[in-house]
Amino acid sequence: MNILFVASEAAPFAKTGGLADVAGSLPKELKRLGHDVRIILPFYKTVAEGGFAVSGGTHEIEVRLGGSPEQGVLRQTALDGIPVYLLENDRLFGRDFLYGTPTGDYPDNPRRFAFFCRWVLELLGRLDFRPDILHCHDWQTALVPILIKHEHGDDPLFRNTAVLYTIHNLAYQGVFPPDALTGMGLDRSYLALDRLEYYGGINLMKGAILSADLINTVSESYCREIQTPEQGCGLDGVLRERRGDLSGIVNGLDYSEWDPAGDRELFSSYSAASLEGKRANKKGLQRLLGLEQSAQTPLLGIVSRLSAQKGFDLVARLLPRFAAEGLQLAILGSGEEKFVRLLSGVAGQNAGHVSFNFGFDPALAHKIYAGCDIFLMPSHYEPCGLGQLIALRYGTVPVVRKTGGLADTVLDPRESPEPTGFSFGAYSSHALWGAVRRAILAWRDREGWETMVRRGMGTDFSWRHSALRYEELYRRGIEKRRG
Ligand code: ADP
Repeated sequence: MNILFVASEAAPFAKTGGLADVAGSLPKELKRLGHDVRIILPFYKTVAEGGFAVSGGTHEIEVRLGGSPEQGVLRQTALDGIPVYLLENDRLFGRDFLYGTPTGDYPDNPRRFAFFCRWVLELLGRLDFRPDILHCHDWQTALVPILIKHEHGDDPLFRNTAVLYTIHNLAYQGVFPPDALTGMGLDRSYLALDRLEYYGGINLMKGAILSADLINTVSESYCREIQTPEQGCGLDGVLRERRGDLSGIVNGLDYSEWDPAGDRELFSSYSAASLEGKRANKKGLQRLLGLEQSAQTPLLGIVSRLSAQKGFDLVARLLPRFAAEGLQLAILGSGEEKFVRLLSGVAGQNAGHVSFNFGFDPALAHKIYAGCDIFLMPSHYEPCGLGQLIALRYGTVPVVRKTGGLADTVLDPRESPEPTGFSFGAYSSHALWGAVRRAILAWRDREGWETMVRRGMGTDFSWRHSALRYEELYRRGIEKRRG
């Protein structure tokens, strides 16, 4: 099959979260399965300055949006032999951040990503590559299925092209006031209830859900949850309407990036067969973060976006208790200012026990995954979650809230004779503390703990299984499209 990934980020070129991991790793597995897969994303400043071998300046295409037209040029790079197309428009994408500064989103985001989507469709008419599948992700690329349905209905170019739309996080829907339509090159007809209309404004994700051939999300539990009013973020009705075309596939991990046996960021490499190196990583991390270098003290870790979704209110409330019980906690996070203030405050009062590191720091992230005993992910909701999968791979036992992908990937001793971690149900610091306490008790039994560690490390969370499921979904999409 010919597959084009249309995404607003893909690792290692541009990354703010899990979407980038997926868009940068699933294509590699699909290529291994024999498909011709390619990726297209905006040529951000981070890509331009990232030291990648970029060629191009071809296909200068002008796109008409409201106001003045926008020009885009095609550049190209590669990811393990996969062609990566880059749309260059310096005014719209040559900025310091992908979507906005720490103080807020770029106000012209609807126009930036409308341009991206329109430009991709224009490009496909001129490229010597006919995709069977356009695999689109999140609100930034929602306009691709919307435009194909409403503006290219009779276009022979797309007659045999199916669109799969993947929701990585339902909370970010691309909701804008109605006057954003003009800048996106859309007329008022899009303000209809069966198109983009949403409480008087427009909702791009809603439009994509209604227009794509198939829709999926990144775990089976999350797929069920988002169809309920409690977790549907206002789109549960639309999702239920399309439930026959909606499914859940859990994300895989890029095992070439996440492998404790060959990870150059670590103090020492290790594997399930030989855990000695893991102890060296704990010591190294304690030293690096100014925590007491003690093998006898449980070290807990967090690597995360700082947002309400990730359960930081629960964590902040428990920090003094962690310190009082003699535990250590290493936190790495970037994101919302209010959590930076909250966590630095509480961490400051519990120095020696809690190390709060603000920033997006992949090298430190690897060290935390490897050096900790326990990894915390008390998310309010979690579409899939990669942190717990990485932790499992690095022999760091996850303590998670039982929701979305966390519920699908972490097995608690209360529900499985072969547990890999600990989970709790109620969203409360009391319930989180209960799960942490059970984990610490288990940690004190060295032999039992190492069995659990090895079981987690041995569970296959590579893309192998999930890529096969995507292959199946693509086939279904093509059949559906070709009727
Ligand atoms: P989300 O996509 O909601 O942010 P995921 O768990 O799906 O959460 O993916 C997060 C990815 O980003 C993981 O690869 C994680 O290691 C990485 N990450 C998150 N925060 C940081 C940070 N501050 N520094 C480095 N990597 C981070």
